[in-house]
Amino acid sequence: MAITDRSTAPSAHSISKTAPDRPPPRGPEPYDGTSPFPRNESADRHRVPPWQLAGTAVVVAFPFLALATAIGLLWGSAVGPADLILAAALYSFTGLGVTVGFHRGLTHGSFTPNRPLKIAMAIAGSMSFQGDVIAWVATHRRHHAFTDRPGDPHSPFRFGTSLGGELHGLVHAHVGWLFTSDTTPPSRYAPDILADPDLRAVSRAFPALCVLSLALPFGLGWAVSGRLHGALTALVWAGLLRVALLQHVTWSVNSLCHMIGSRPFRTRRFDRATNLWPLALLSFGESWHNLHHSDPTCARHGVDRGQIDLSATVIRLLERVGQIHHVHWPLEDRLATRRQA
Ligand SMILES: [Zn+2]
Ligand SMILES: [Zn+2]
Repeated sequence: MAITDRSTAPSAHSISKTAPDRPPPRGPEPYDGTSPFPRNESADRHRVPPWQLAGTAVVVAFPFLALATAIGLLWGSAVGPADLILAAALYSFTGLGVTVGFHRGLTHGSFTPNRPLKIAMAIAGSMSFQGDVIAWVATHRRHHAFTDRPGDPHSPFRFGTSLGGELHGLVHAHVGWLFTSDTTPPSRYAPDILADPDLRAVSRAFPALCVLSLALPFGLGWAVSGRLHGALTALVWAGLLRVALLQHVTWSVNSLCHMIGSRPFRTRRFDRATNLWPLALLSFGESWHNLHHSDPTCARHGVDRGQIDLSATVIRLLERVGQIHHVHWPLEDRLATRRQA
């Protein structure tokens, strides 16, 4: 995918119109790797509608709402095994929808899926409450095009590299960026996804898929227990808390995996993506983020010995049963050229 950083320096044409007795207009200072990013003036002019901010606030407040509800609901009664099994199953289904489908498949083209699998993965990822498939892909491609420098939608270095700037940036990269009006145009970053009628249909169905993501545990909980109480506990544990946990794991890859961890592979200038092993299991291998930024189209992110990458395992299985093709598996000599000296 060819997304290039357009220079913001003044054009030769604009410079030639400058009066000779005045100094030429100065473009933005080039980024030095430590300063706060300059303000995005077009985003400042573009205010987010209050209903959109309210919707985002509801989604972000999920863990706290869910936890409060869970405590009230389960006071004096235990969580049933059905709730936890259902929570694990839906966490895996929607999580792999994001990691294998949205991320490695659709955003980076690490493999080519058959059409039914492409649609199924887009549906599964949409049920994670992380935005519709078109917006997700566009935002993430922009993150790769401008990693950790001005233009990155969620860099923890947005406010500079002082202690206060990094703490502010951590909150911004984790969740604060969702509340900014800094939108990413899909026509520029995801024209291939926009041109796909299947993915446009899944994108339009996003609100319905969010409802389904909660209705499913409610209905299954009722079916298994035969009681409304069982339906409600399944809704809380396999619905709300499962959504909240996966959201925070994904957001942690944006925030923590650019701040804490090891950097065994070289990345582009300013890009500070890290490998963070404690998140490897819960993130299905996405926290091997340093390798991913070093070689974005590689289907396996955990390339070294002992690096568990369940998304890559699933991709391998789907390849074996003929559901996906043209997988970009890691190549030893390619990796060697990317390792830090
Ligand atoms: Zn990243
Ligand atoms: Zn990526």
